[in-house]
Amino acid sequence: MLKHDPIIIDTHDLCKNYNGIQALKNLNLQVRKNSIYGFLGPNGAGKTTTIKLLLGLIKPTSGNGSVLNYDVTRENIKIRARTGYLPQEPRFYEYMTAKEVLRFTARFFFYGPKNEIENRVSEMLDLVGIEKKADRPIKGFSGGERQRLGIAQAMINYPDLLILDEPTASLDPVGRHMILELMEKLREFSTIFYSTHILDDVQRVSDTVGILNRGTLVAKGNIEKLLAGSEGTIYLITLKGDTESAFKNLSTQPWVSNINVEKKDNKVKWQINVTDDDLAEEELLRLILADKKVKVIDYRLKQYELEEIFLQVLEEDENVVK
Ligand code: ADP
Repeated sequence: MLKHDPIIIDTHDLCKNYNGIQALKNLNLQVRKNSIYGFLGPNGAGKTTTIKLLLGLIKPTSGNGSVLNYDVTRENIKIRARTGYLPQEPRFYEYMTAKEVLRFTARFFFYGPKNEIENRVSEMLDLVGIEKKADRPIKGFSGGERQRLGIAQAMINYPDLLILDEPTASLDPVGRHMILELMEKLREFSTIFYSTHILDDVQRVSDTVGILNRGTLVAKGNIEKLLAGSEGTIYLITLKGDTESAFKNLSTQPWVSNINVEKKDNKVKWQINVTDDDLAEEELLRLILADKKVKVIDYRLKQYELEEIFLQVLEEDENVVK
């Protein structure tokens, strides 16, 4: 995903009340084409409600939104024609085989010539890696295989957008790992928007994250930036050798705001705060390596665990509510 990729999910103050209870409050969500967006939040946060609103399966109480430039209330049929959707617990006719399920779906959702249906069905079985189970009835399928079949169904019409509601929630660690790998692969074909309550999923496969808590989007943005924390970008560099002149050189750079030095054994650790991310990315390592008296042992961006960020924003949200 690039900064200038078009926004394909765009909501403005989208709200949903159920019998007077606010399930979703003023949601302003933007998702760019080609991104893999992790929509994170505890159970009951409003994730499924959001997904149903985006697909036009329920109507907003107020606010508006568009998906693929179609209005969520007036043009939801067009949205659904170009969007693949995996519901939280996909249901199948248990006696049908995987191939029969996909054929059945293709007849409804695939708009190409009829004789291409068989090719498309085989292609989807391959894509999600269940081709060997193609002729077995669903009733013998594991949770992970069911999810993969559900994803194959959602992909059958080459959607521009794939929306997955808690794709890994009911799976064991192996099943989860396989679904995350599959999602990584599907990025090549479609923008992916998925909900989850599992932090680790988001950290593993998203490039953008939104955190929803009790109907409010409490944090959103690029995952790298979010993980870099609110102190701005910090580089952690471990060096050996005579670091004095390299230190002096770096200190004079206008985009370096602070260097914290720690010495241990024969190594020196620098924690460098920078004010211009692009310049730092271009120049920092080059400047250090230009000094032949130092050796760089380790070089990385300081990152927080998503869990720290998540707990921090939830805590701030609690304080606001109190
Ligand atoms: P999540 O997907 O994040 O677990 P949901 O969107 O399913 O959250 O639910 C958000 C809130 O809205 C919850 O408090 C839930 O109980 C409530 N809710 C969801 N669907 C309905 C409904 N059809 N009627 C009444 N309340 C609902």
